[in-house]
Amino acid sequence: MLKNIFIIDVFVAIAATAFITLKAAEFRRALQLGREEQLPGTIRSVIRCLVGRGRTFNKNDGGLWYMVVLAGGGAYLMAELALSFVPSTPPLLATGSLCVSIVVLAGSMWFIVSALIKKVREGYWMDMLPIVALPLLALNRIYHDTSPGGIYEQHLFYYFAILFAAGAFPHGLASMVNIYYKNRGPLGKARPFNLATDPLGATTVEELSWKSILDGQACANCGRCQNHCPASMSGKRLSPRKIVQKVLQQTRATLKESSPQSLHDVISQEEIWACSMCMACVKNCPLYIGHVNIILDLRRSTVLKQAQFPAETHTMLRNLELYGDAQGVGAANRHQFVLDLALPQITKTSQPEYLLWFGCSPEYIPDYKKTIRNMVHILNAAKVSFGVLGKDEFCCGDPARRQGEEEIFQNIVRKNTDKLNELGIKKIITMCPHCFNTMKRVYPEFNGNFQVLHATEVVEQLLDEGRLEFKYPIDKKITMHDPCYLGRVNNLTDGVRNIISAIPGIEFKELPRNKTNSYCCGGGGAQMWLHESPGDRISTLRVKEIMETGCKLTATACPYCLAMLGSEMQSCDESGEFKTMDVIDMAAYSIGCDCEG
Ligand code: SF4
Ligand code: SF4
Repeated sequence: MLKNIFIIDVFVAIAATAFITLKAAEFRRALQLGREEQLPGTIRSVIRCLVGRGRTFNKNDGGLWYMVVLAGGGAYLMAELALSFVPSTPPLLATGSLCVSIVVLAGSMWFIVSALIKKVREGYWMDMLPIVALPLLALNRIYHDTSPGGIYEQHLFYYFAILFAAGAFPHGLASMVNIYYKNRGPLGKARPFNLATDPLGATTVEELSWKSILDGQACANCGRCQNHCPASMSGKRLSPRKIVQKVLQQTRATLKESSPQSLHDVISQEEIWACSMCMACVKNCPLYIGHVNIILDLRRSTVLKQAQFPAETHTMLRNLELYGDAQGVGAANRHQFVLDLALPQITKTSQPEYLLWFGCSPEYIPDYKKTIRNMVHILNAAKVSFGVLGKDEFCCGDPARRQGEEEIFQNIVRKNTDKLNELGIKKIITMCPHCFNTMKRVYPEFNGNFQVLHATEVVEQLLDEGRLEFKYPIDKKITMHDPCYLGRVNNLTDGVRNIISAIPGIEFKELPRNKTNSYCCGGGGAQMWLHESPGDRISTLRVKEIMETGCKLTATACPYCLAMLGSEMQSCDESGEFKTMDVIDMAAYSIGCDCEG
């Protein structure tokens, strides 16, 4: 009996070692396909993952479930381990029974892999109980039960352990490494792109970054990204899960065929252009996969190499390049707007505390000019020292980057940062969350280091300092639509609510999907300029959700959201009762200086 077990042991050990070695080699080769930085030391990464990096436990993403089951399973194993040291005490469960062993083992192995991932991600040490307990328990049994039957069962126990470990190995290893190398920077900062040295986007797997290839290996195919994706939910062909799985598929095909496989063969143009870059997929992926970096690389290759981008955006890009704004209105018009408002223009010699950055959205969302005028009134009422750039203000560049037109984007950013540095600007107030995110998160890469504040942050601050007084009530039931680039991407969710709650008369009701879990309006990622099809419009789904709350007024804080939801409300609501309004307009109304009522 023992001799047979020994032979099986040797066989299993060789098979498991061969399998894991082959998979590790494949994993390593897969990563070597990618571009950019030198590959990380995988072993070092795994060890550092196991050592762990503490983070706050998050109850909302299934962590509680993991905790209960893992801690429960671990506590049971620990208890059994302790009891086994007490002579003549029966085990808690009939562990002599093969069935129980298998069930405990199967469950534990699954939890071990999950716990490693979870532990690294959340820094939650209770998850480690089964990992510590299981090998100790097995060793203890070997020590105590040396009968041939006992040894046979213990070895069966190990065979199953090896089977599960080997099965989970490629994904488990990739997941851990991916978690270690997750984007630790802000969510709104895309991976830096060097026009001189990086390939112009990714046509093949080899032109992807090594991190995007690792993303493909790590994906658990759990579908959380897809379940949060507004494009998927509204019936578009895009699924972030499938994008990552197709990267994996083409990576394997490249390794098998020994020639780079095209990503465009498996990922259609429809998928690439349906993304609103809302970041819901990235935010909700338990393995920190960067879907948007992959989609951006695919857009760049389509635009920069193949010049096959959607016709609707040709004009927008040309306008950005020639006139510095997406609508092609030009510097003279921007200058006229500033003259109409009699705003102080910043020069090298006149340096107010803040630059008020309009963004180019008032040029294509005419109603938004009113919001800017209201912001000016608020700043004047609070005696804030500010100025504007007028004809020298260009688009921040965001629509070009989201479109994949990196060259135009970088030219605009350089022009802007040069101008801002030349004028000695230190603090910027932006009206649009997309300008806010780009100037705060991306401009520092281009020597543009400014203190960037969103308009709602400034209003909240002025309110706190007692420089504004909300006295005129808005007697309405109001809900709040959080813009993706304010809420989810930059965690600015409380400030807007503080402003709303300070306005007398408002009855506030949250939408079911709110704050960092808000649902996209469908305007980001250059979708403002694209026709949405097939399926519903993303904004239609959001407006239905808003209407179900019964709130006739929806507050928001972004020109894109204002335009997308506003026009959708007009088509969904014949009575014309449902409206959107910027929080800045509400604040201006309440202090008594709303420019147009
Ligand atoms: S949420 Fe992450 S792990 Fe799950 S399917 Fe999407 S990419 Fe894969
Ligand atoms: S960024 Fe938003 S729209 Fe794009 S794939 Fe992710 S969830 Fe979908």
